[in-house]
Amino acid sequence: MPDASARFSAVALVNSRQPRRVQRPVGANGKVQDVGELFGQKTFSLEQMADKLPRPIFKQLAATIEEGRQLDHPLAVSVAHAVKDWAVEQGCTHFTHWFQPMTGSTAEKHDAFLTFSKAGQAIERFTGDMLIQSEPDASSFPSGGMRSTFEARGYTAWDPSSPMFIMEGESGSTLCIPSVFISYTGHALDQKTPLLRSMAAVNKAAQKLLVAMGETSERVVATVGCEQEYFLIDRAYWALRPDLAIAGRTVVGANPPKGQSLDDHYFGAIPPRVLSFMQEVEQELYLLGVPAKTRHNEVAPCQFELAPIFREANVGVDHNQLISEVLRRVALRHDYKVIMHEKPFANINGSGKHDNWSLSTGGKNLLDPGKQPQENTRFLAVLASVLLGVQRYGGLLRASVASHGNDFRLGANEAPPAIMSVFLGETLTRICNGITAGTSERTPDQAKLTVGVETLPAVAQDNTDRNRTSPVAFTGNKFEFRAVGSSQNPGWPTTVLNTIVSEGMDQITTWIAEAGGDKAAVMAAIRKALIESEAVRFEGDGYSDDWVTQAQAKGLKNLRTTPEALDELRLESVERVFGKHGVLSPEELLSRFKVQEEQYLTAVDIERDTLRLIVNETVMPAALAERGELAIGAKALADLGLDCSIEKERIALLNQAVLRLKTRGDAVGELAVAAGHDAHKVADTVVPALAEVRAVVDELEGLVSDGRWPLPKYRELLFTI
Ligand code: ADP
Ligand code: MG
Repeated sequence: MPDASARFSAVALVNSRQPRRVQRPVGANGKVQDVGELFGQKTFSLEQMADKLPRPIFKQLAATIEEGRQLDHPLAVSVAHAVKDWAVEQGCTHFTHWFQPMTGSTAEKHDAFLTFSKAGQAIERFTGDMLIQSEPDASSFPSGGMRSTFEARGYTAWDPSSPMFIMEGESGSTLCIPSVFISYTGHALDQKTPLLRSMAAVNKAAQKLLVAMGETSERVVATVGCEQEYFLIDRAYWALRPDLAIAGRTVVGANPPKGQSLDDHYFGAIPPRVLSFMQEVEQELYLLGVPAKTRHNEVAPCQFELAPIFREANVGVDHNQLISEVLRRVALRHDYKVIMHEKPFANINGSGKHDNWSLSTGGKNLLDPGKQPQENTRFLAVLASVLLGVQRYGGLLRASVASHGNDFRLGANEAPPAIMSVFLGETLTRICNGITAGTSERTPDQAKLTVGVETLPAVAQDNTDRNRTSPVAFTGNKFEFRAVGSSQNPGWPTTVLNTIVSEGMDQITTWIAEAGGDKAAVMAAIRKALIESEAVRFEGDGYSDDWVTQAQAKGLKNLRTTPEALDELRLESVERVFGKHGVLSPEELLSRFKVQEEQYLTAVDIERDTLRLIVNETVMPAALAERGELAIGAKALADLGLDCSIEKERIALLNQAVLRLKTRGDAVGELAVAAGHDAHKVADTVVPALAEVRAVVDELEGLVSDGRWPLPKYRELLFTI
């Protein structure tokens, strides 16, 4: 008989929890170590290398990293030797090539340093070969058909531009080597390889553009800083919610009387238990060289955010993956579970990941409006490249964040809509409109004046008041891609951003050359790009229905579901742009399409099974027991000649709900069979049918007595931590 005793015990336990005390590490001098001392202790950073490697070797390695080249063998031998000594000194017994398969998280397979010497003695060894490459096999990772089982070998190889680090376990440590993961034939099987290729592409395209504008240029790097949103739920509750445990989100749960309507959580005081958790997370991140910078409460109750200081895109992405991992690990010590899902709770905000992106060269941010006219023209050219990229490949950008979880966010009036548009702010919009209207094009000199010195520096100021409803927002000196899902690896959307901006830059470079290559030609090319991309600029409310209509009239795509979005990956134009910039081959692109589609179908399947399990094992028995008890009571009252109308009324309500639950549950089963493996049908029929089942369950939650409802309710999950 379902009852609420376990739930009530959980409530009592959660209410008795105390913040965990976290000790700051103490140095050799007996004093608490400050952040400067902690920072990067567990990474084999450039400073560590400078310290541990012979000078000429270090110089070679630094140059290899700076130029983004592959490591040659003799160099690897020296580095392997030094890193092993360092790692063993810090208690490492194992090493692993740490890589990012297409599953959204990270993967590792540990190997011991242990080996036997010729004399048969156990020793610790780590060679250059082991550093450069490893063959984890790992044939169970999704490859979208690129690896048939007989050719299942996959290789991992160190990405020297990302520092090695040590992951501490409770009883021993592991040296992690950030790696790419490729097939025997050199096809990308991970998120990192295309990201690195796209960084090379944007470097090339940006330098060509700068040269076309008459500037000298050094290496251009894409930079990324990801703001990470997450929920914290007490472990005691989590253990009683099979949906959270299996599907990562609640598939049932009635609205509490108070949701986020009062906005009292956002930026509010951080609860002491949570603060203590955050402090331990930050401490671990500092050790790993991840510059955790901001922490705060987010909009929904129990929702929080962590943002680091940005880095080169591949390192920024690694950092985001490390942040997710550390959040998960440390949470357990505080009796929390971190929920990374895009939509863990209905009717309150879900979680995203704002991918802050820019380009920089020689320490200069190319999206920083400068003080000189020349700098401003450069800024406008880069801005126009982004606009042109989003205009032409908005659908692809949408596809890069497509997942079942994210479908609940995008377009649900809490996150940017599924329509890709760019917000620039008032000042920049005025400037762009001026340029497209032709008011700034009479002579090169006048052009300089109109886009000029006084107006652009005001841009940063203008952007203090942001438009939260835009998927791609310019925020003063960078773009913020806000449609990324919280559980997603940001490598893929960043790869797409880099690629489409490269294409925008290439186009503008060509236009400049075609128009003669002088200053007037540069302004004309910028103008042409701004005119072509006018439709994609939008300053209004992205949540409004009006925008949906407007966007349609402008020819912008509104790809509401994952399958619709994924179809973009099949377009010839998309295949061409990836091929042209050397980011993905047609086979690699197809494999990504297949993997994303498969993940979508699997996620829906898991939710369907979880919901069925909850209905059959918990909700239906509770509702039937409630009805039975009321019926017995009603009969007893009637036998005594007493009024039993209230009982009868409740029985009738329960009866209707239970019957509806049965019918709707059966309907899901039939629709799922009819949809089969057709993702579009699943999205259009099964997903809405699941919501229908849920609606009845949530209704029943209000009809069954509290003492009989075993699942922790939203009001408990969200308001008692
Ligand atoms: P806001 O979103 O309010 O502007 P921040 O200035 O703190 O907040 O930036 C948010 C994130 O953007 C941080 O992770 C930050 O490091 C990152 N960021 C700032 N500048 C850049 C840049 N040039 N390139 C990439 N990311 C950046
Ligand atoms: Mg932000």
